[in-house]
Amino acid sequence: MYAQVIVDVAHTNVAKPFSYTVPQGLRLQAGMRVSVPLGPRQVGGYVVALQDAPPDGLPPEKLKPISRVLDSVPSLLPQLMELAREMAQASHCPLCETLRLMLPPGMRDGRTPEKKELYASLAPGVEVGQAAARMRRSPKRVSLLRLLEGGAPHRVSDLAKLVKNPRDALRALQSEGLVQLSQQPSPPAQPAPAVLTQPPPLTADQREALETMRPSLQAGQGAFLLNGVTGSGKTEVYLAMVNEALAMGRGAIILVPEIALTPQMVRWFRERFGPQTAVLHSRLTDSQRVDEWRRIRLGAARVVVGARSAVFAPVERLGLIVIDEEHESTYLSDRHPRYDARRVAASRAAREGATLVLSSATPSILSFAMARRGDYTLVEMPRRVLGHPMPHVTVVDMRRELEQGNRSLFSRALTQALSDCLARGDQAMLFLNRRGYNTFVSCRSCGYVVRCEQCDLTMTLHRERPDDPGVLRCHMCGLTQPPPKRCPECQSAYIRYFGSGTQRVEEEVRRLFPDVPTVRMDNDTTRSRDAHAKLLDRFGRGEARVLIGTQMIAKGLDFPRVTLVGVVAADMTLNLPDYRAPERTFQLITQVAGRAGRAERPGEVIVQTYKPDSPCIQAAARQDYRAFFEQEFRRRRAGLYPPFTSLARLLVESPSEAGAQAMAERLYDTVQTYLLSHPPQKRRTLMVRLDAAPVKRIRGQFRYQVLLKVFQHPDAEPLLALLSELGGVSDGATRVCCEVNPVTLM
Ligand code: ADP
Ligand code: ZN
Ligand code: ZN
Repeated sequence: MYAQVIVDVAHTNVAKPFSYTVPQGLRLQAGMRVSVPLGPRQVGGYVVALQDAPPDGLPPEKLKPISRVLDSVPSLLPQLMELAREMAQASHCPLCETLRLMLPPGMRDGRTPEKKELYASLAPGVEVGQAAARMRRSPKRVSLLRLLEGGAPHRVSDLAKLVKNPRDALRALQSEGLVQLSQQPSPPAQPAPAVLTQPPPLTADQREALETMRPSLQAGQGAFLLNGVTGSGKTEVYLAMVNEALAMGRGAIILVPEIALTPQMVRWFRERFGPQTAVLHSRLTDSQRVDEWRRIRLGAARVVVGARSAVFAPVERLGLIVIDEEHESTYLSDRHPRYDARRVAASRAAREGATLVLSSATPSILSFAMARRGDYTLVEMPRRVLGHPMPHVTVVDMRRELEQGNRSLFSRALTQALSDCLARGDQAMLFLNRRGYNTFVSCRSCGYVVRCEQCDLTMTLHRERPDDPGVLRCHMCGLTQPPPKRCPECQSAYIRYFGSGTQRVEEEVRRLFPDVPTVRMDNDTTRSRDAHAKLLDRFGRGEARVLIGTQMIAKGLDFPRVTLVGVVAADMTLNLPDYRAPERTFQLITQVAGRAGRAERPGEVIVQTYKPDSPCIQAAARQDYRAFFEQEFRRRRAGLYPPFTSLARLLVESPSEAGAQAMAERLYDTVQTYLLSHPPQKRRTLMVRLDAAPVKRIRGQFRYQVLLKVFQHPDAEPLLALLSELGGVSDGATRVCCEVNPVTLM
């Protein structure tokens, strides 16, 4: 037997499979992880194929044998190996890098064998009664023989709970030929049991959505865009669909933007499907993740709830993939190899005969455009459950507040609404998409602004209390420094702080309502592993009355006692230098507004802005997705932005500015030369620009970029391949990377 092995070494000259011989007696299957010699080293690898004959032209005696097999069950399912192949091709990267995505981090290094444990069983043919009679003077051995009597192997660690220190006795029994000891894969840890709940009767909209999608589920096909307003009960539709899939003997994957932010979603699934539910996300320890992953691989868990990478979960007979809040940018991976979980899900669903459901109250422009083109079937849920009304939204013009002498963070309308809400005994949420206290520090005499030494960004003041002098922190690299007492440029003492973050919002609430307990959720308060859950629990139990947070609180939270949502500064995302700024702003406002009034009591939303007339704010205030889509789609078409083109950039990073610029110029010339040497109808680009990146320096690295708009057309493939190749170029400390439609353009 011969094995084709992809070695796990990220380097292009080892991207092809190598052949090895399979030693006699080694039980090897395609998809298993192995350890193999490569030159003088031992490296990890994945068996991609097995064959009887030696590969063409290679004398078998030249081949080295596989050193070790790390799996007893193949880690890679054949369909996932296919998926990895397709992704490697599409993103022009070595196969080992996409194969690695299919495994949890604890299994990726090619060295970690599965966890094994010592098992004991009775040797074949042993008659326990007779054997026990011969060893009356050793009661421990007798008890062990009795325990093993049924024939099934027992974990030695389980036996140790019944018989004290059984190991020596077992070894003795083994040497007498009565017992067999062996290392076997240990079973994955089981989750805590959950109390199961019954589904509520579905609403008319939910039933209709289910009826529309069920035939596809049964036929093992179909892709849907489920556009239901906030509070329309989309989760219950997923649960019903999963139930159908399970009844058909198939599994399901539910992707959520970030598990830590959607603990309720996990709970709902656990309560419905019990231990059949597995949860995968990055806040688990590596070994917890391996356990959950193995429960899925071995078929014990058939419902997977997880973040982006759960799209690769080893569910064997997959029937359904749901992508909740499909508009979230967390579905785009920002690490190499980059991928879009929505695209991967579509490809996986088609390959494995599963139904795909993308779901959102505010679908991405891209997905909605695809639905309009017929790539997805649109399913709508226009009403909230049980006749609950949509929240009432008021837009407050902060320019008028200033004119009328209100210089505070909260408009009079918001202060009044907050006071009414608390007086009613309800809860409120205040949203501001910036953490810290003040967002920049500047000198009023000379205009100097404190910037990070390492990054081309202003420093943010962080402080927990009004009397605390605080500390300046860079949100990019984490560098901190004390706030200056005098201007470093002109020595003026006239230093002022501008811009507000969540800490300042919290302080303001405490000043206005000193007795009201608050809870703040942002990157500063959620560093520890289960901080999110603790903070949300406090709010859920009503111990805190006002929840203040960044976009963390905009995702899917369902607290029935929240009747007021305040958007403190709606313009913050609108002013970002990114063509997606209006889309992000609309989504954030609509989503956070959607947290209000989700039960009987009606919800009220106050949106503070300096641009009350902006079409995006207007559409968000009316919670009119269609209107927003139409206007944004027109704007994208006029500006030739995605989905009408792809935005590709070659990003150059270098410790020297001249180095970064020179490399970017070289890349720009290469691209121009390519474009000139190809006939115009094949150029298919529309814009090539060379600039400094919007954030010109990060962590001491200067950043320049070549930005292209490329028409989506098969003819553009060679150009994209060229860009991807240029993305691998590096010159000493100067590195280039190629990104197509990246998550961030900063
Ligand atoms: P969405 O994700 O569409 O914003 P959720 O799925 O979070 O909405 O549901 C909103 C609320 O409505 C939840 O509290 C949920 O328990 C409740 N709900 C959903 N479906 C029903 C139903 N059929 N009957 C009663 N309550 C429901
Ligand atoms: Zn100054
Ligand atoms: Zn910095």
